Amino acid sequence: MSAGRRAVKVAIVGSGPAGLTAALYAARGELKPLVISGVPAGGQLLITTEVENYPGFPEGIQGPELVDRMRRQAARFGTEFVDDNVTRVDFSTRPFVLETGTSGTVVADAVIVATGANARWLDLPSEERLKGHGVSACATCDGFFFKGKELAVVGGGDTAMEEALFLTNFATHITIIHRRDQFRASPIMLARARAHPKISFLLDSAVEEVRGGETVTGLRVKHLKTGAVTDLAVGGLFVAIGHVPATEVFRGALDLDPEGYVRVHHDTRTSVEGVFAAGDVHDRRYRQAVSAAGSGCMAAIDAERWLAEQEPAPRAPPAAGARVAPVPRSG
Ligand code: NAP
Repeated sequence: MSAGRRAVKVAIVGSGPAGLTAALYAARGELKPLVISGVPAGGQLLITTEVENYPGFPEGIQGPELVDRMRRQAARFGTEFVDDNVTRVDFSTRPFVLETGTSGTVVADAVIVATGANARWLDLPSEERLKGHGVSACATCDGFFFKGKELAVVGGGDTAMEEALFLTNFATHITIIHRRDQFRASPIMLARARAHPKISFLLDSAVEEVRGGETVTGLRVKHLKTGAVTDLAVGGLFVAIGHVPATEVFRGALDLDPEGYVRVHHDTRTSVEGVFAAGDVHDRRYRQAVSAAGSGCMAAIDAERWLAEQEPAPRAPPAAGARVAPVPRSG
C-alpha cells in the first residue's frame, strides 16, 4: 500500500493467530479486511520453535510455518496486508482512523485489535542468545522438550508457580528463583508449589547469567542480600516474570486495565463500539495460539454482525393484505 489514505470496512491490527484468524473469517464474510501486520509480522509464534499443541498437526509444526500458513489462508480469501506498525489511532469518530509508520492512513468502519502481548524478559545478553535453545517463556509450549532435566523458573507470581508445577510433568527437579522472599502468587498456587517434592525455592536471588554454548547448562545466580554468587546446574530456564500487552498505541483510545490489557465485554467488544479485541491483547489467562485463534474468529463474527446492524434497514415488504399499486403486465 502506498502512502495515502485508504478506506476499508475492517482493519485488523496484528498478525499472530488472533489477527490472522479474524482476517480469515472477515475475508470469507466478504468484508475485504486489511491486516496491518506489525513489524516484524507474525507475533510470538515467530520466536517459537516446534508447536505440538496446535490441533491438526499431529507431527507438530514450526511456529513461523504455522503463521505463514495462516497468512496464506487469509490471503486466499482476499485479505490484504500492510507490513507496517500502527503509530496513532483516532477512535473518537467513525470511520476510525489508524496512522501507520510509512504506509499512510487507514480509515475503517470496524477495527479488530489483535496486537498480542510479549513475554517480559530478564534482558540479559546470555538469555537473548539462548532463547529457543533452553531459555523459554512458555512451559505449556516447550516443557515437553525438557524431559528428565533439571530446570529453573524465574518469578514469584502465579505464572511462575503454574509453570513450575506444569514442568514437574517432565523435569526431575525445578528451582524457582525469585528476587524477594514475598510472593505475588496467590496463596493456593504458592502452597501447591511449596508442597511439591520436585520443587525448591531460591529466594532473594537474581539470575546474572545464563551459561551454555549450544544450549543451557547452568545459571549464575546472585543472592541479593549477601552478594554471594553461586552456579546452578540446570538444562533449561523458564522466565515467568509477566507479560506486557502491546497496547501503548491504544492508550487513551480504548479502556485498558491497570496492566495495559484491553478491557472487553460481551466477549470481544471493547469500550469503543465498533472496535473489537482478540487474543493475548485482552487474554492474560490462556495465552495459547489456539485460544488466540478462537478469539480472532469470535471478534470477526462480532464485527461482521455489528457492521450489519449499522447498515440502513431494508425497506419493509408490504404487510399481508396491504394495498399495493398493481404492477403493469408486460407482453
Ligand atoms: P505477576 O503477578 O506480575 O508476577 C511477576 C513476578 O515476576 C513477580 O514476582 C515479580 O517480582 C517478578 N519479576 C518481574 N520483573 C522481574 C525481573 N526483571 N526480574 C526478576 N523478577 C521479576 O505476573 P504473572 O505471574 O505473569 O501473573 C500476571 C497475572 O495473571 C496475575 O494477576 C496472576 O494472578 C494472573 N495469573 C493467574 C493464573 C491462575 O489463576 N492460574 C495463572 C497465571 C497468571 P516482584 O514480586 O518482586 O515484583
